[in-house]
Amino acid sequence: MADEKDFVDMCAVCKQGVPKSDMVYQKGKVFHTQCFNDHGGSFPAPNHELNHMSSRTRIELVQLKNLMVRSEAEATVAKTAKAAKKAGKKPKRAKPKRSKSKSKKPKSRTKSRPKKKAKKSRTRRR
Ligand SMILES: [Zn+2]
Repeated sequence: MADEKDFVDMCAVCKQGVPKSDMVYQKGKVFHTQCFNDHGGSFPAPNHELNHMSSRTRIELVQLKNLMVRSEAEATVAKTAKAAKKAGKKPKRAKPKRSKSKSKKPKSRTKSRPKKKAKKSRTRRR
């Protein structure tokens, strides 16, 4: 009964519950002290690489999750920053637009050429 309470994990050798007081953790597995003494030395550790990989994958998954959360937060920040920039840009953008339409028909150009011809060449150019 007390053993069940202290149950930690399954023994890799006999596949039975291992109580905390009788636990040996080796090769990424839990053994009974007795089982490890009897079989632990010859027990192959084919899962060692797998365990290593799975733990690494778990870490990478966490890192990926963190990255996603961070990039999401950054995207939100960038969005709000962009919106703020846009709002601030709007009045600025309107100004050069006006000056552009003004420069579209410069007076100095029409002055240097005959009025009729200047109009024709402009449409042709476009
Ligand atoms: Zn065992």
